[in-house]
Amino acid sequence: MNNFEFKNPTKIIFGKDSIEKLSNEIPKDAKVLMLYGGGSIKKNGIYDQVKSALADVEVVEFGGIPANPEYAVLMEALKIIKDQNITYLLAVGGGSVIDGTKFLSAAALFEGNSPWDILAKNMKTEKGMPFGTVLTLPATGSEMNSGAVITRAETKEKLSMGGPGLFPEFSILDPQVITSIPERQLANGLTDAFTHVLEQYMTYPIDAKLQDRFAESILQTLIEVAPKVLKDPTDYKAASDFMWSCTMALNGLIQKGVPGDWAVHAIGHELTALFGIDHARTLAVIAPSHYKFNFETKKDKLAQYAERVWNITEGNTDDKAHAAIDKTVAFFHGLGIDTKLSEYTKDYEGTAEIISKRFTEREWLGLGEHKSLSPDMVEEIVKMAY
Ligand code: NAP
Ligand code: FE
Repeated sequence: MNNFEFKNPTKIIFGKDSIEKLSNEIPKDAKVLMLYGGGSIKKNGIYDQVKSALADVEVVEFGGIPANPEYAVLMEALKIIKDQNITYLLAVGGGSVIDGTKFLSAAALFEGNSPWDILAKNMKTEKGMPFGTVLTLPATGSEMNSGAVITRAETKEKLSMGGPGLFPEFSILDPQVITSIPERQLANGLTDAFTHVLEQYMTYPIDAKLQDRFAESILQTLIEVAPKVLKDPTDYKAASDFMWSCTMALNGLIQKGVPGDWAVHAIGHELTALFGIDHARTLAVIAPSHYKFNFETKKDKLAQYAERVWNITEGNTDDKAHAAIDKTVAFFHGLGIDTKLSEYTKDYEGTAEIISKRFTEREWLGLGEHKSLSPDMVEEIVKMAY
């Protein structure tokens, strides 16, 4: 096992009607900017629940953060933070609103000229404006981690940021929120969380028993609850398992002491930036070809995953490893998620070259858990995903 340090300061408030507890978490003298997305919270009652919980606090609102939070929109919110002397941020939404809020937390205290530098120069944020979240969509794990991904339409870029100063102070997780989530987004959430675990688990060497079993248990839980969640989002037991699995998939715990891959996300972000494909779907496109391309180095772990998660006992290591990739593809298909780029866009020719060129320009010359995937190799992986 590798050396590691682990600190996750986010307080989780989980359970039925937990949004009522919001006012306990925000300082009474705070001036709060409440951030939300395209308006789903006004239709499903979450907006009213939050407003009533915050009745005694001074609140300014900023709605309209789009999926794949857009830099230009966030810059409007930043102006409000500065003009109105906001002291606390509250994200009410899914990964996009939470990530957008993390950017604002960093940008509010940023002293340079252009806040885009936080992303372009990969600056680690040590201290941000304090913020909390009310999660409305289980998927990203953003509610209990310190990372964010921000999109800039002008340049068709989607870049990551983060740092120890960007953990939410608290996150409220009421599984009842999933009752209003459209099926497409539920499928996205299951796929994103599943792939988060794979990115931290499907690595080599096999070296950490507990982390492996944590990861496998999250995968098994997601596989078990997926059909229940899709069939009946009012099934509170399934919703609870789904929500907590998504948080546990990316709150730092399973990645400690083991190498992380994250090539699937790095490549997937480019597909969202270029074509606007939902984040989770880009992962389902790239993951299978990534595992096929890196078969030799990852096959022992793929075979372990086959045995322990998919109960595949027949065949040798290679057979099991191939079967595991097939099972993963079938799982995504079962959620209604396509796994080939050509199923999302007719303009896919040339995508591999564009991505490889971008990675070269950014000097992303070695992706994957051992920094061994060159831009040329990335090009091959994307072509295999056409
Ligand atoms: P999202 O983009 O936050 O939301 C997708 C859609 O679901 C939006 O239209 C949203 O509507 C709607 N929605 C959310 N909650 C709902 C509810 N309770 N009922 C009905 N509709 C609801 O989706 P996401 O998958 O959570 O976030 C994706 C973003 O997170 C991507 O940009 C991705 O790159 C990023 N990400 C971040 C991390 C991380 O660790 N920080 C990890 C993976 C991915 P509204 O617009 O009305 O809210
Ligand atoms: Fe993700």
